[in-house]
Amino acid sequence: MKIAARLSIMLCAAGLLPVVAGAAGSYTLADFAALPKIDVHVHINSADPALVEQAAADGFRLITINVDYPDFPPLPQQRSLATGLVAAHPETLAWVASFEMRGWDEAGWQQRVLGELGTAFADGAIGVKVWKNIGMEFRDRAGQLVMIDDPKFDPIFAFVRERGRVLVGHQGEPHNCWLPLAQMTVNNDREYFREHPQYHMFLHPELPSYEQQMAARDRMLARNPQLRFMGAHMASLEWSVDELARFLDRHPNAVVDLAARMGQVQYQSNLDRDKVRRFFIRYQERLLYGSDLTQEPDASAAATRKDAHEVWLRDWRYLTTDTVQQVPELDAPVRGLALPRNVIRRIYARNAERWFGAAWKARPAVAIADAPR
Ligand SMILES: [Zn+2]
Repeated sequence: MKIAARLSIMLCAAGLLPVVAGAAGSYTLADFAALPKIDVHVHINSADPALVEQAAADGFRLITINVDYPDFPPLPQQRSLATGLVAAHPETLAWVASFEMRGWDEAGWQQRVLGELGTAFADGAIGVKVWKNIGMEFRDRAGQLVMIDDPKFDPIFAFVRERGRVLVGHQGEPHNCWLPLAQMTVNNDREYFREHPQYHMFLHPELPSYEQQMAARDRMLARNPQLRFMGAHMASLEWSVDELARFLDRHPNAVVDLAARMGQVQYQSNLDRDKVRRFFIRYQERLLYGSDLTQEPDASAAATRKDAHEVWLRDWRYLTTDTVQQVPELDAPVRGLALPRNVIRRIYARNAERWFGAAWKARPAVAIADAPR
């Protein structure tokens, strides 16, 4: 008997896991649309409701995340797109706000950001995103890169915590970012860093190392132990379930989303499927499903819906069944994890409800009552 199965049976007997692991206790493709799910990491940069409509058809609620990213529309525009869509589809969509680093050296920067976030929370934002520009790109007046553990962020993180919101942090990049293109483990990283050489750290050895980025993030978390944190993209520890396990053990108030890193999970499960499966079962309360689906301003509704459905179905097939499938991120076929139903329900909905739920429910009633139907 496999160790994972034996462990599950022991835990079931102890009443800790009310499901039987293995194919018999798994969902199937036919269950996909019916199970209520949450994708905690998408970017809707368009007023077109195509992605929201596909989500509703596929049984998803969505969290659309604003990011201070030059490839995206300016933040004020992202914010108004998000609040407009949330007002129209409050049953399906919630949003996470962000803030700009511009003006960092000016005396009023903190007050301005706190004011903007207060407005965003009043408009229903359930979290705040900090991005890799902090640590990799933004420099202060003295020409120094600003890292995420800079004490100047502390009042902002305290405000996020006091208001019961979640800090969503994308610090550093996948480990592949520090490798040459040919050594990267997944096709999507190779493609992204080929197209964005400015973020390909292998080309910028003068910038902080992967380890320095992770250490700055961990120091910030250690200093803010009460802050509810969601590490975007598996907290940039996507390359090793062992490293990610250590991170989750060290930071009990942190969870991670799986957005755009399923390929790295699959790369590892192709090497040792039982180990990856054990990790998902052991940390089932700390992993949140996310895709990183991005709806561009000019994307066609049909293409948006088709792409989203395919990505969601591919991930569902991998996590819930033991089917072998071809995925775009890897050249080798991938066998699914066939995770137990209870684990799937946590990863796909319950964890997000627990993490964001209070703020999600605290959305002003007026926004719902006024929503056009
Ligand atoms: Zn993203």
